[in-house]
Amino acid sequence: MFKKGKWRKAVKKAKTERKKLRDQLDKLWAVIVKQRAGNVCEYLGCNKITYLNSHHIFGKMNLATRWDLENGLCLCCGHHTLNTFSAHQSPAFEDWIKEHIGKERYRRIEARSYTIKKWTIEELKALVEEFKKEINSE
Ligand SMILES: [Zn+2]
Repeated sequence: MFKKGKWRKAVKKAKTERKKLRDQLDKLWAVIVKQRAGNVCEYLGCNKITYLNSHHIFGKMNLATRWDLENGLCLCCGHHTLNTFSAHQSPAFEDWIKEHIGKERYRRIEARSYTIKKWTIEELKALVEEFKKEINSE
């Protein structure tokens, strides 16, 4: 058995590892979403290729869809957050997203976003590897 201090250290280490993997997945997910969009803002007619962000269609607080590649859109910072008409400011933009990605994809992600996903360290690691493979295959 662990002594108190050792146990605490082990818990802390596991937390740090989880946090590291989550940060890593956030970055990789964002890279793939942009890559799949051809590194251009997906908003119709925008065509910006700089200051690109990866937008979570369903918020990233939900771990079931946080690293779901279907749940990502590549948007310039204007269409992501800065403009009045942007993903984080306008309900009308949300409507555009629904139309753009199609009802089926929207419903698929929505359904997944209602589930509760508890990731094990092994699952997080496996996803990191999967994401790295996708990035390198481009
Ligand atoms: Zn844009």
